[in-house]
Amino acid sequence: MAIRKILEIGHPVLAARASEVDPDAIGTAEVQGWIDDMIDTMRDANGAGIAANQIGLPHRLFTIEVGDNPRYPYKPRVPLTVVINPVVRFLSDETFTSNEGCLSVPNIRGNVTRRTEIEVTYVDRNGHTQSDTIRGYSACTWQHEYDHLDGLLFPHRVTDPSSFCSWDVFQTFFQDDYASEVEDLVAKWGS
Ligand code: ZN
Repeated sequence: MAIRKILEIGHPVLAARASEVDPDAIGTAEVQGWIDDMIDTMRDANGAGIAANQIGLPHRLFTIEVGDNPRYPYKPRVPLTVVINPVVRFLSDETFTSNEGCLSVPNIRGNVTRRTEIEVTYVDRNGHTQSDTIRGYSACTWQHEYDHLDGLLFPHRVTDPSSFCSWDVFQTFFQDDYASEVEDLVAKWGS
C-alpha cells in the first residue's frame, strides 16, 4: 500500500482511453495492490473518488468514497466502492449543474451538466458483478470518475467557461448557494 503521485491534466495517460481489466486478474496481488494504492491516494488527498489512470495505471477502474470530506462538505456520504470495468446507462434526461473539482486539475472548479439517474454495472474487487441504480448527487460523482476512464476530465465538459473559478473564490462566493442546490437534489433522491 502506498500513496502515489497524482497525474495532472494534459498527461498522456490521463488523456487516453484506459483498457479493460482482465477479469481473471482481479484477484492477483498486482491488481489488489493497485486498488489499495488508489484508496490510500484518494484518502490522503481528500478526494471523493480516484481513477486508476490518475495514478498512472491505464486501466478501467476507480474508487469512490465520501465521508466527512473537507474538500466537499456538501456531498452526501458514499461508502467505499471499488468499481472495475464499469458500464453506465442513463435512466432519464433529468440533469443537474454540477460544480466540480478534480485531484488532477489543481485549484480549478467549473460547472458540468450531469445526469441524475443512472444505472451502473461493474465488477467489484472480489470479482463479483454488481448492478446498482444511482440517483441524485452521487450520480454526478460516478459520471466524473467514469469520464476519467475515457480520458475526459471535467474541464473538457464545461460548456460555460465563465464558470471556471479557483477553490478559494468558490468557497468565498458560491459554495453556500451551491450547497443548498445540492441539498435540494439530495432531498429529492435521498443521495
Ligand atoms: Zn477527477
